[in-house]
Amino acid sequence: MAAPESHRLTRQIVIAMLAGIVLGVALNQLSAAPWVQNFVVDGLLHVVGSVFVAALKMMVVPLVFVSLVVGVTALSDLKALGRIGAKALALYLATTAIAVSIALTLAGLVGPGQGFDAGDTAARFSGKEAPSLTQVLIDIMPTNPVAAMAEGNMLQIIVFALLFGVAVTMSGARGKHVLNLFNDLDAVIMHMVEWIMRLAPYGVFALITRTFASQGLDLLLPLAAYFLTLTAALAIQLFGVYSLLLRLLGSLNPITFLKKMRDPAAFAFSTASSGATIPVTLHTVEYKMGVPNSIASFTVPLGATINMDGTAMMQGVATVFIANVYGIDLSLTDYLLVVLTATLASVGTAAVPGVGLVTLTMVLGQVGLPVEGIALIIGVDRLLDMMRTTVNVTGDCVVSCIVAKSENALDQAVFDDPEAGSVEA
Ligand code: ASP
Repeated sequence: MAAPESHRLTRQIVIAMLAGIVLGVALNQLSAAPWVQNFVVDGLLHVVGSVFVAALKMMVVPLVFVSLVVGVTALSDLKALGRIGAKALALYLATTAIAVSIALTLAGLVGPGQGFDAGDTAARFSGKEAPSLTQVLIDIMPTNPVAAMAEGNMLQIIVFALLFGVAVTMSGARGKHVLNLFNDLDAVIMHMVEWIMRLAPYGVFALITRTFASQGLDLLLPLAAYFLTLTAALAIQLFGVYSLLLRLLGSLNPITFLKKMRDPAAFAFSTASSGATIPVTLHTVEYKMGVPNSIASFTVPLGATINMDGTAMMQGVATVFIANVYGIDLSLTDYLLVVLTATLASVGTAAVPGVGLVTLTMVLGQVGLPVEGIALIIGVDRLLDMMRTTVNVTGDCVVSCIVAKSENALDQAVFDDPEAGSVEA
């Protein structure tokens, strides 16, 4: 029996990912001829991958703004907005705190970094200063919405869109005209997102091949304990914690959910950016999982910005690893401090590749560990970034579904339908 068109696209994306990994590792191991490096890896693959990510990013700001304005106007009252916001925020913080706790417990048991020879890695870390928490809070209010959009400052765009949406609702007949326009814009923008999704097999293939061709896996060996502990922690969160939460809080089938996660997971893995993945996450949550736009348009961009379960896990394991390498004992208070700081740091981590390492400085600083320790793990960070971003994005979708279910707003028929919302290949 032929696969439905939609499954064909998902299958093509998965095949593209696997082919990219195999070809990338092969190119790296075979130390490809200079022309292959110059023309294929740094030429063709670089261009295709970068154009693909740029196309995704191009959609983020218009999509979030328009969709959120439409979403807010669909809510019956401001109380509903407050309730949804409070639930989403509480769940985002709780899932992150659970994630760090699992990471710390596992790292405490495995003890990565014991007997590690720091001379094995030559990398240096000279990251930017992480922003302070007070600054993060102050920066939520935009001084200039156009600048916020130009810079892609997600929290500021959310605040402006919320206020604008409320004003549209309150503006009577004039507001109706604006709303009609925004409804149409929303449909048009989603149409553009679907174009990009159709190009995903090529984009994903180019991104993954290039990453594996330039990273290689040689650095993995000395850091195997760190790498595997974190991978195991991420897997527990992805398959264990999320499944449990979906079942317990949402009475939703986790297998159905995970199957629907394949597209956003592939995008998150290949781009290592929850921000760039927003268009696909929003598309999946709304059209495949049945979360109404009034909830998804708020929870998805908010989650992409403040909910980083995978990143917080990396910070937990990295803290234990660095403490072990430097022979520093962490007390119970230190562990609690790591949970607290990593959870808050996740709020302040931008949804782009590698930023988790920058906010790791905050976590290390809190417990008095040397920031230079980050240099030890930089070599394997790209691959881990891809994996943790996948967990970050999955966490956003889990919370969106649970919030929708708790508001009796989830369309169960869409959630249960394996074909729902599919984009044809
Ligand atoms: N790349 C991650 C994300 O976009 C953030 C990080 O951990 O560096 O979700």
